Formats: sequence, structure tokens, C-alpha cells
Amino acid sequence: MGQTKYSLDYLTIVLFAAVTLATVVGVPLFGYFHGFSAVDWAMLGILYVVSGLGITVGYHRLVAHRSFECPEWVKACLLVAGGWALENSALRWCADHIRHHARCDQEEDPYNATKGFWYSHCGWIFIKSPHRDEKYELRLRKDRVVMWQHRWYVPIVLSGLALPFVIGLVNGGWMGGLSCFLLAGICRTFLVLNSTFCINSICHLWGSQPHGTFDSSRDSWFISLLTFGEGYHNYHHTYLRDYRNGPKWYNFDPSKWLIYSLSLVGLAYNLQRQKS
Ligand SMILES: [Zn+2]
Ligand SMILES: [Zn+2]
Repeated sequence: MGQTKYSLDYLTIVLFAAVTLATVVGVPLFGYFHGFSAVDWAMLGILYVVSGLGITVGYHRLVAHRSFECPEWVKACLLVAGGWALENSALRWCADHIRHHARCDQEEDPYNATKGFWYSHCGWIFIKSPHRDEKYELRLRKDRVVMWQHRWYVPIVLSGLALPFVIGLVNGGWMGGLSCFLLAGICRTFLVLNSTFCINSICHLWGSQPHGTFDSSRDSWFISLLTFGEGYHNYHHTYLRDYRNGPKWYNFDPSKWLIYSLSLVGLAYNLQRQKS
């Protein structure tokens, strides 16, 4: 069997390096010499929740797994919020994710955990996978909201960075704009990226497997605290379409709570549940 050829994705490497450096070096230095305002911290919290839920509820449970349905405008809002996380368009993200479930722990698995922690955490984004296959996009391409978000992905990303800058600008002039951009734009992006990465790395390496050992997926209640409920990953790999990742009422799963809350006001329907 020949070695698979991988080529580097330089744009992603530069972007990720810039976001990481700005967060681990720029943010502490700026905080030390200038400080951050209460508005900056509030925007960090708000945008962390909004873009994080955009990924878990919009990209993951709605588009990739069809675990519920909703009006198109609600889907559009969720996909804009998910776009702000800088994790690629929903079309690309969900095609990769569908391939992850279809080929888990195999060479074609985009974040193959058998290649170790760093590969499944973030190493995989630095290479252009030769295993991308249009067959994983076919269903997604029929969704006009997904295609709309894919077309407008770059402006959506820029709007997610411009928003904290403008709010900071109004709050505290140019330096206020810069500080809010750094904390709620760049640092927040770094945090949400790593929260998603933890599901692909930690939740395939450490934790319990109460629902089966057919693949490396694991349940980790602790990671659920950081990822809006996605840490119950062994359950999720077993019951893909369930709108809940933590099925018990006491499982910390804010994504499930948001979907259920939307259903109470008619903005989500046909919620999928594993019959038990
Ligand atoms: Zn999934
Ligand atoms: Zn997984």
C-alpha cells in the first residue's frame, strides 16, 4: 500500500498562527499595558456563546446530522453565527464531519484520532486532505441556505470580527475598538476553535464508552462544559441523529436546551430522539 500524499494548506497555517500568536502574546501584553473594559469582556462572553452554539446547533446538529428542522431564516441565523467561528463554511465543515462519522479512525477520517492528540486536535487543518470527496457534499449542496452561507462565507467571517471592533469603537474610541477586537474577535475565535478541537481530540482519546466500543469516541462530561454539551461524544457516535448529545436531563448540554427551547416557540420541529 503506497503512502497517501498530503500537501500543506498555507492559508490555514498562516491564519491559525496569526490567531494563536495574537491570543497568547498580543492579548496579555495589551491587557498589561492598556487593560480591557467590561464591554470587552461582555462581548467575549456573548460572542463565545453565539459562535459556539452556531457551530454545535447550526453546523453540527442541524446541517450535518439533520437532528431537527427549522425555518430557513433561523437556519440562516445559526449558520451566520457558526461562520463567525472561522471553522470553514457549513458546506465544508459538515462534509468533513459526515466523513468523520462514516470513516471514523480510518485513513479517510479527517481528524483521525489514531494519529495522536495533536493531529486530531489541530494538525489535520494544516493539510489539504486528498480524501475530500464530493459524495459527502451531495445532500448539503441541495440546501439553498447552506449554499448561500458558503457563497458569503468570507463577508460573514469579516462581519464577526468587525462587530466587536465597532462596539469597542463606540464604547472607547480607536483603542476601545482595538481592545474589543483583540479580546472578543481574535481571542474568542481562538477559544471557540480549541473548544471544537477538543471534541475531535480529547473525546476520542480519554473518557468512558458506555454506549459501545465500535470506534474511539468517548463521553467526557468535563469537555461538555466547554463545548455546549458536545462532550457526550460516545452517545453521539452511537445515536447520530439525536438532537441531544447528553440524553439525560441532568447532562450539561446547552445545545439541546436551545433546540428544545426553539421547539417550544415553533422555531424548531421534528426533533429526532433515540427511542429508549
Ligand atoms: Zn457528529
Ligand atoms: Zn467524533
